[in-house]
Order: sequence, then C-alpha cells, then structure tokens
Amino acid sequence: MTKDWNRRTKLVHEGSRRSQYGEMAEAIFLTQGFAYDSAEQAEARFIKAGEDEFIYARYGNPTTRMFEERIAAIEGTEDAFATASGMAAVNGALTSLLRAGDHVVSSRALFGSCLYILEEVLVRYGVKVTFVDGTDLDQWRAAVTPGTKAVFFESMSNPTLEIIDIAAVSEIAHAQGALVIVDNVFATPVFSRAVEQGADVIVYSTTKHIDGQGRALGGVICGTTEFIRKTVEPYMKHTGGSMSPFTAWIMLNGMVTLDLRCRAMAEGAAKIAAALEGHPKLSKVIYPGLASHPQADLAERQMGSGGTLVAFDIAAGKEAAFRFMNALEIAKISNNLGDAKTIATHPATTTHQRLPADQKEKLGITPGLIRLSVGLEDADDLIADLMQALDRA
Ligand SMILES: *Cc1c(COP(=O)(O)O)cnc(C)c1O
Repeated sequence: MTKDWNRRTKLVHEGSRRSQYGEMAEAIFLTQGFAYDSAEQAEARFIKAGEDEFIYARYGNPTTRMFEERIAAIEGTEDAFATASGMAAVNGALTSLLRAGDHVVSSRALFGSCLYILEEVLVRYGVKVTFVDGTDLDQWRAAVTPGTKAVFFESMSNPTLEIIDIAAVSEIAHAQGALVIVDNVFATPVFSRAVEQGADVIVYSTTKHIDGQGRALGGVICGTTEFIRKTVEPYMKHTGGSMSPFTAWIMLNGMVTLDLRCRAMAEGAAKIAAALEGHPKLSKVIYPGLASHPQADLAERQMGSGGTLVAFDIAAGKEAAFRFMNALEIAKISNNLGDAKTIATHPATTTHQRLPADQKEKLGITPGLIRLSVGLEDADDLIADLMQALDRA
C-alpha cells in the first residue's frame, strides 16, 4: 500500500503498472518468461529478483503482480499471492505451512473441497486435525492447545450462513500461538475487516465476487510479506498453482467494480430476505442481515452487512423445492455464487450431495433448503420471480 487512498480509489488504481506505451487499461503480459539483457543479469535475478523483476510466469508476472497488490491493499495485508483457483489458495495456505506432526483446528461446516483437504490430504501427511462447531467458542477453547499450529474456518458458512466470530476465535488461537487462516469468500473483501479482527491469513476464491461475472477460476492468499514470500511463494511456485496472467487481468477488472457490485447485491439480498420472511410456504428464511438471524449482532459487528446470499427452507421438501427452482424465470439454477446473475442452488442434491444424511441434518441442509446468490438484477423483479415460483412450488 503506497498511498493513503480510500478503498474505492484503490480498487480502481492500486498496483497498476504501465509499459513505455502508457496504456490506460492494465496490460495482459501473456508471456511465460522474460528476456534478460545479459547472462550477468539473468544470474543476478536468479539470486534475488527485485521489485518488478520477473523470471517465469509460475513465479510471478506483471499482470498477476498488479492484481496481488490491489487485493492486498483492499484486504489490508502486506502482501498476497494469486493462485489458479480458490482451492489452490486454500491448499497453498495450509500445505505450505504445515508438516507431519502439526495440529490444526478447523470448523466442520466447510465447502466440500476444503473439507477434503483437511480430512483427507493433510491427515495423509501426518497432520492432526480436530473439527469443531465453529460457532461454539467453548469448542474452540477446548480444541486449541499450545501445540496447535493453525486454525481454519469459513467466516460465513455455506449454505446455512452461520457467522464465525473472527475476533473471538483469533483471540483464542493467538493465546496459544496458532496462526488464524480464514476463508472469507462469503463475506467478500468489501465487507471484510478480517485483519483488524485478528486474522493472519485470508483466503479468497476469486471465482466468486471478485470476478463477479462467472468467467474464470482464481484464488488468492493474503498475509504478511514474511508469510507470503517465505512460506507460500516457494511452495506455490514450485508446485504449479499460480494464477495465469489472463485470469489476473479478468480479476483486476473485476476489482474495479467490486465495491459497487457487492453493495448493490447485499442491498438486493436484504430486500429479498425481508420480502420472503413469513411466506407461508417457507419454514425458515436465513439472512445475517435480518433481525431474526441468531447472529445478527455479530454479522453487523463483523461485516457491517448481511452479505449477498440468502437461504430459505421450502417446508414441503425436495419435490416442492424442485418445482420452485424449475419455475424460476430470472434466477438461474447453478452452483456458483457472487455472480452478477442471480443463482439458485439446491445444496442437498448438488454441492452437499455427498455428505451422509446425519451430517446434512447436523449442518441444517434440509431437503427444502435453497441457497440464493443474489445478483445485480432489479430486486423488485427478483422478488416477483421468487414469489411466482413459490406460488407454483
Ligand atoms: C468456491 C469456494 C472455494 C473454492 O474456490 P474455487 O475457485 O472453486 O476453487 C473455497 N471456499 C469457499 C467458501 C468457496 O465458496
């Protein structure tokens, strides 16, 4: 972060680099490598590459670097490393840090692939993993011990939109010397204050709100320069999970409108949640911005917003939920989120299909549950669409 700019200015300008042509738009440096002026220069760069000195696109690239600087400035971390997908970011943050014998505590309500890394991959390499109910601070207190290397959680859970208290969990973790790694996708960088709340490392799937138009997979790990350059970078650059320059260019452009989009989507989500609450066909409407959400105060304190997703439970179950989805005219049936297009997801049969029945029940993934990622359409049009589809459910 070089200047004392506010967020909206940084989203447009931070990290920009211009070539000798002075191009207005950020250039895509679609090149795998870089030519050196001399053999001596190549040798020097392999010993230590300075700022704006690049070697190979897997190690870094000017377009990717622009994106890393822009997201780090927004998140408030010293540095960032851009990755090929959100999962490359989650895997990179955990695997670059941990070694056999280390202990990690994680919340159980995780995106399926995150659960796979913690439950299958890390364990295979001798890392001990303890799962807790992330909303229960007593469980964190009991599980985090002086030997715990890191804690991991999604700050807002998928698909039931529970909030995990970043400040409280960070306090528990730091008291035992553990690093706090937060998957902050559902909160978005716009509503994130994770650094001031104590998070050490923040991970995003940029596939979601940062792209915001469902075009490209990407991810990013944000943290201190020490963690990013000494721990993450060597692991990522040698194992092949770096972001491509073309993807970085898409994400840079997504950043320009990120604040406007997330605020408009959250405004739409709040309107939709309020309109749906109390509907006779729904047993439950979950939105962290509704006063009825059990953690409404925490959501306001942590994010200052209810976010861009709404979940609701169609009381009559799976067949009614399917009739509802099939009747939607604006909202699309898909499984991404954070897209400009509103997306309806039936978690029990898609994103969370593979979970055993008792796990689904424990996580509140009922047969009638719908997750709605609210897009940029007019909220009144979306409400009319949801209402007509509920009529036909
Ligand atoms: C989508 C998502 C990921 C994975 O990101 P990809 O870009 O699909 O690899 C990880 N965590 C959360 C919370 C997500 O929503």
